[in-house]
Amino acid sequence: MLDLATNVQYVKGIGPKFAQILLEKGISTVEDLLYHLPFRYEDRLNPRGIGELRPGEMASVIAEVRTFGLFRTRRMPLFEMTVGQGRDTLKCIWFNATYLQDKFRAGMLVALYGKVEAGDRGGHRFQIMQPQFEILHDPSAAEAASEDQALQSLEVGRIVPIYEAAGNGRLTARWFRRVIHAMLENLDQDLPDAIPASVRGRLELIDRRRAFWHSHWPEVGESLTKLQAARTPALIRLIFEELFFLELGLELKRRKMRAQTGVAFQINDRVRAAIKRILPFHPTGAQKRVLKEIAADMAGPAPMRRLLQGDVGSGKTIVALEAAVIAIENGYQVALMAPTEILATQHYLSARRILEAAGYRIVLLTGSQESSRKKQTRHHIAQGNAQLVIGTHALIQETVEFDKLGLVVVDEQHRFGVLQRFRLMKKADSADSNNAAEPDVLVMTATPIPRTLALTLYGDLDTSVLDELPPGRTPITTRLVGDERSSEVWDFVRKQVAAGRQAYIVYPVIEEGAITPQRANSGRAGGPGEGELKAAIKMHDRLRSHEFASLHVGLLHGRISADDKDATMASFQRGEIDVLVSTTVIEVGVDVANANIMVIEHAERFGLSQLHQLRGRIGRGSAKSYCVLMTGGKVSIEAQQRLDAMVRTQNGFEIAELDLQQRGPGEFFGTRQAGMPNFRVANLLRDRDLLEAARKEARYVLAGPNADLTKDEIARAVQHLRSHWNRRYGLVEVG
Ligand code: ADP
Ligand code: MG
Repeated sequence: MLDLATNVQYVKGIGPKFAQILLEKGISTVEDLLYHLPFRYEDRLNPRGIGELRPGEMASVIAEVRTFGLFRTRRMPLFEMTVGQGRDTLKCIWFNATYLQDKFRAGMLVALYGKVEAGDRGGHRFQIMQPQFEILHDPSAAEAASEDQALQSLEVGRIVPIYEAAGNGRLTARWFRRVIHAMLENLDQDLPDAIPASVRGRLELIDRRRAFWHSHWPEVGESLTKLQAARTPALIRLIFEELFFLELGLELKRRKMRAQTGVAFQINDRVRAAIKRILPFHPTGAQKRVLKEIAADMAGPAPMRRLLQGDVGSGKTIVALEAAVIAIENGYQVALMAPTEILATQHYLSARRILEAAGYRIVLLTGSQESSRKKQTRHHIAQGNAQLVIGTHALIQETVEFDKLGLVVVDEQHRFGVLQRFRLMKKADSADSNNAAEPDVLVMTATPIPRTLALTLYGDLDTSVLDELPPGRTPITTRLVGDERSSEVWDFVRKQVAAGRQAYIVYPVIEEGAITPQRANSGRAGGPGEGELKAAIKMHDRLRSHEFASLHVGLLHGRISADDKDATMASFQRGEIDVLVSTTVIEVGVDVANANIMVIEHAERFGLSQLHQLRGRIGRGSAKSYCVLMTGGKVSIEAQQRLDAMVRTQNGFEIAELDLQQRGPGEFFGTRQAGMPNFRVANLLRDRDLLEAARKEARYVLAGPNADLTKDEIARAVQHLRSHWNRRYGLVEVG
């Protein structure tokens, strides 16, 4: 009998050699191999007749090999094969497929899967380009005669699992079918189940062994549609289980954090008066509500772990500064971290404007400062002289020791990634030598986070939402134009500048021929080559000497030194520069209220959240604002969807949902290392309902025993989590 922890090399048909190949795929135990689930299922019980295919559909066909051959065209070798069912024939074509020439023999039975197209010539009604294929039966092979009937029946006459191959094709889908089938037959009858019975009952979960069986080998009569949508009882069980333990882990973290000692800040009349004194304007209702939530956390004995979501321009900064005042008035230091030097500098300037009159001591720490100055600043911080420390994330995290750190504010969190966030919290507690308490942490993001991600990535944080823009904002008009109309756009910019306004003009690349960091994949779909892309430097030259010859034109990009960047930003802020030509370095947080035009060239190259961020730079003053999305060259369907969404809505959550759909959760935060758990079965876009259920059940379980839930069951669930958390979710250990 096999149990879940058995090494795969002891599974029938594997052995040490194949086990090694599996190990390279991260499969070492029976359990791992059970989670090597089919990526699709093929209906070989009711295979399609060639005569009834429809162009455009994905279809699987079982047919007999008739003729084949390798053709050399001028561009590449083509392998063509005709298969048939009686009089109906279908052509299959593979590009560059010299390797196929000895693969087939006439009379073989093959299963093919791919997109059906109308046949282009030679009397075939249909063809499939590059189909996936599997040889089901070879009448001429000696092996065929001796092949066990039972094994044959794994390949045809049923819904068949299709697996990703491994070991450069050495372990085929067929190999996996046989091995996994044999493994399931020898699997322990009684697999331990760590999900408490009452939870199982509520969700009507089937037992684990059956769930594995039918996820690989669907029950007779199971619907292919449900299988493909992962909504069979078997798949639901596996998905729920995965999400349940993730949520259990996040909930445990939350509870553990809650149990730690934080600073219980005093919030009395004196502190309230100090907050009032700094306010340059009346806070919005949302700002008041969010400050209350933050203040309640800060006053409580547990360390705050709060995520503040607020669309660009919603006014997060002042809320952060109010929180900072609470900490400082209680005798603590505050760290405010930004993802870039530009942003850190800007925060520093506005913090000084707002706080210095009240006598608070604020320091800025950036990488480009002279090292003697940095050293001096660090000394001030360590002595406790500096009350508010502003700097880039990396700098503060790596090099600064605080005297008495009470609050950490992390701005624009989505740039950092979640793992870094955890590291930061560790640093924060060890840095704080005079004080055993954990500092409070406030994470601020302008990326509206779809609920599915909020529940997974930030499941251990409390959240606040700033859902109201400060008063006096004028709506932004967004237009989509082809760049053949650029002269009209420049005309418009000149008129606005003549009326006293300022404009941003953004390009996807710095220099022609440079590799663009953004959306490398969207250029593939027939977009212009890098060489044809308008680049910031060249367009700056051109606009300055032609279209905007009479205006002041500035240039900003990532390769300009930090000092020059600051100088340029400062003069744009003072209104000395009319038109700022830039790459996306201005994307986050830049705040110039008089700028009311955002022109984005090659807008088709940008991701949705980038476009949204860029547009958020305008609409901040009293003048009407305009966002002009210019496209150059061919626009892919996905890019068109992005641009249409931008024209249609300014709602950040709506935009975030579409972004998530287009890019998938792993890419949503711009990097694969953003700390997304590696799910084996779950898919956040598809399984949102199960995620919500898992969250609810995890909370129920950790709330403690009751008539339907024993202490042992809870202990078992937590134990299971502890032994699986690291390996399974790739997240840091839970308490
Ligand atoms: P973000 O949330 O994008 O960081 P900011 O904090 O930079 O937004 O605020 C955007 C602009 O709105 C700033 O110029 C800020 O001074 C202004 N602002 C914020 N709150 C208010 C308010 N309640 N009334 C008027 N102006 C406000
Ligand atoms: Mg901000």
